[in-house]
Amino acid sequence: MNWHAHTLSAGSHAADVQIRNVSRHYEGGVALDRASLSIEPGEVMAILGPSGCGKSTLLRLIAGLDTPTAGEIEIAGETVSRPGRITPPERRPVNMVFQDFALWPHMSVEAIIRFGMKHRGVPKPIWHSRIEELLAMLDLGGMGKRYPRQLSGGQQQRVAIARALATDPQVLLFDEPLSNLDAQLRTQMRIEIAELLQRLETTAIYVTHDIQEAVALGRRLVVMRSGRIEQIGSVREVFQAPASQWIAGLVGYSDSLRGVVEQVQGKVLVIALGDGSSLALHSGDPALTPGTRVALRIRPESIRLLTEDESAHSGERVVNVRVTKCSFEGHKWRVLGDVAGQSITFFSLHPLDAAGVTRVAVDCNGVCAFQEGDPEERDRACLEGAVESAVAMQTA
Ligand code: ADP
Ligand code: MG
Repeated sequence: MNWHAHTLSAGSHAADVQIRNVSRHYEGGVALDRASLSIEPGEVMAILGPSGCGKSTLLRLIAGLDTPTAGEIEIAGETVSRPGRITPPERRPVNMVFQDFALWPHMSVEAIIRFGMKHRGVPKPIWHSRIEELLAMLDLGGMGKRYPRQLSGGQQQRVAIARALATDPQVLLFDEPLSNLDAQLRTQMRIEIAELLQRLETTAIYVTHDIQEAVALGRRLVVMRSGRIEQIGSVREVFQAPASQWIAGLVGYSDSLRGVVEQVQGKVLVIALGDGSSLALHSGDPALTPGTRVALRIRPESIRLLTEDESAHSGERVVNVRVTKCSFEGHKWRVLGDVAGQSITFFSLHPLDAAGVTRVAVDCNGVCAFQEGDPEERDRACLEGAVESAVAMQTA
């Protein structure tokens, strides 16, 4: 895409968005439950969560397409939504890119882009030049007279982006804009949209159920589940100190092992797994005192197979694993092993003998612990300390 052509907003009037205790109830249910979120001017924030967790509801409320049943939303210092009273969408400095593109089939590309500007009161004399500018910027040069059906999926999505940009919004909302594209195009468009957002410096909120998209697009992540915000943090914070076991699973921590806190050495915890095996991890959670029973989650990539005389690096801990199963996955072997009667997964570049015992080194940055039997609420309460210490450890 040719970003250099554009003269649209470059951060000059990016707006902040404040979401305060916003809920959206429906008869018989709640789509969004007391969400609070503060988005800085120019920030690109990704909202990640499974289908049905309330992502679109949140975006629609910000866009003014829906009214909250509780709470309020402020954009650029102005309250735009509160129960029973909303500023209509066209009077908000916001525009949205929809999942299904929402292009009108009977209109040409030019007409589609022009329609938004007309509707939002962009002065007529600049329509033509802005359409040309956007078409060039989004690699749609010469396609202004075409109809949506004459465009590929990727081109249709670019038209949807052009239409949203045409009104020069201070806040851009993306609702899973790539989920109707094939895998290869999705990867390419993900990179292009990330570049676009970097260049525009507009505030952007990007909703997705795809972790890779969320990481590529957002500097901060909001993780949602069942209508609630479960964690807000930088990509790194969410990956290193997931606020709940559920989030740990979402960001790639697989196995869950049981253990007991054996020692606390500053922010390093040693967890006994039984049979004399133990693992270490970083945690600032004050609830994890010696004797506490914990569930451990481990990233398979942080388990490294050791050769016979190889020793662990600092920050790693050696564990003996009895191999139970080894299956080929095209370019590596997935190994299922047993440690103190519990199963553990890791990868190997060559097959391992089933029933053989092998040594592995486990990187303590790839392990996180949750108090056993702990409701997810507790995980959340402990989050702040855990994030701080884990990040401090990493940067130290
Ligand atoms: P997501 O975009 O994360 O997939 P949505 O925000 O679309 O989720 O929906 C969140 C929840 O709200 C879902 O359980 C959905 O069924 C419910 N919901 C959405 N719109 C309505 C509606 N108009 N009436 C009743 N329930 C709705
Ligand atoms: Mg949705």
